[in-house]
Amino acid sequence: MSEELQTIYDESARCNKCGFCQAVCPIFDITKDERSVARGHNSLVRRLIEGDLAVDQEFKDPLYECLLCKACVENCFPGVLTNKIVVKGRAEYMQQVGEPKLMKFLFHKLLPDQKKMARYIRFLAYGKNAGMSKMARSLGILKWFRRDLDKAENIVEKMPTRFFRDRVHSLQLRPEKPSIKIAYFVGCGFNFVLPHCSEATLNVLVQNGAEVVVPDHGCCGLPAYVYGDLQAARLMAKKNIQTFESVDADLILTECASCSSFLKEYPEVLEGEPEWAERAERLIQRVKGFSEYLHDKLPDFEQKGTEQNIKVAYHDPCHMCRYQELKKEPRTLLHKLPGVEFVELPESDRCCGAAGSYNVLHYDQSMKILDRKMDNLRKTGAEVLTTECPSCCIQLGYGVRRAELPARVVHISELVQERCYGDTMKG
Ligand code: SF4
Ligand code: SF4
Repeated sequence: MSEELQTIYDESARCNKCGFCQAVCPIFDITKDERSVARGHNSLVRRLIEGDLAVDQEFKDPLYECLLCKACVENCFPGVLTNKIVVKGRAEYMQQVGEPKLMKFLFHKLLPDQKKMARYIRFLAYGKNAGMSKMARSLGILKWFRRDLDKAENIVEKMPTRFFRDRVHSLQLRPEKPSIKIAYFVGCGFNFVLPHCSEATLNVLVQNGAEVVVPDHGCCGLPAYVYGDLQAARLMAKKNIQTFESVDADLILTECASCSSFLKEYPEVLEGEPEWAERAERLIQRVKGFSEYLHDKLPDFEQKGTEQNIKVAYHDPCHMCRYQELKKEPRTLLHKLPGVEFVELPESDRCCGAAGSYNVLHYDQSMKILDRKMDNLRKTGAEVLTTECPSCCIQLGYGVRRAELPARVVHISELVQERCYGDTMKG
């Protein structure tokens, strides 16, 4: 038993087994299985620490079935941090059973090195655009993703082969008289899958008086952390701290809710190493998300006639609304956009089922969660669904195509770009 796991024992023991978490857990809603819910996860980890359980498949499966959406934490009277307990349980599993080689390669060699990562993703992108299943099968990747890759292949409609970092040099990054200098943290999802969103973000920032620099940094480390490779996550966190410490900028900004959330978690992720935790603490004072930064900075735009309005709904990413408690900022921003009629999406903060790569690894469950999101979107009659996370953007875009809804899905920075600065994109 690792010391890492022992540290979570008291937290798991705070669960009083009341079962209130059942009412809000998207996975329990589908499975009705006690092992799928926070109470079940807490009990598994506690019993493992007490020596009452073995680390086996029965232990692993329920923990990896969790979305880490934190709905249970928000609705738990004692506030048991089930998300942390689940991650520590996963880490223990990986430590005792061993991490698959491919994941180790991904977390230790590719994600920290975006240039190397780009070579692999470009290869996959060409394959995907030409029909990925065939190629993935020949590469043995289907074995890695196992049962759900065939079905999940269409979640991403088309993969770009020219990434954001390939385009950044052609973008305007400095206004005439900058009032602030921003270091832009490029999330992997935006760099490799949604580079047009990054371009919109940069353009909006420059239009609002920011000089933007794009440092050469790696992944934030969240994918490794949630998988249970805490060592890789910590190495990536330290590398990013070093990189951004040397960047002269007033702010570190990202439009990826998952990245901003995890960057802000660095002090806790590194709490066992006080010197690094202190450096992380200093770093996160400068970290902000897109709407967190922009909601009170956008100038007043002339409102268009109401007949030109578009109806817009907003989906709250879990890493925005619960991990960072940012709910009102994106709404404030949306209310300021010209020609936008904002409509509240029912259950806007219920997970969309993307949860990083959850939709690929647990396709059927993820789609059941997505169907409910689409039913809620249908009720609003919105023409545009916006959000602030790449995984959510991709998943919701797939949901709209799958449900054949007459709505488009855009990142909130794209919407700001479109409604406020429509013809100002450079490059
Ligand atoms: S996790 Fe919280 S809500 Fe769920 S059973 Fe335990 S104490 Fe109750
Ligand atoms: S984090 Fe979400 S999916 Fe996991 S147990 Fe809690 S409510 Fe359920």
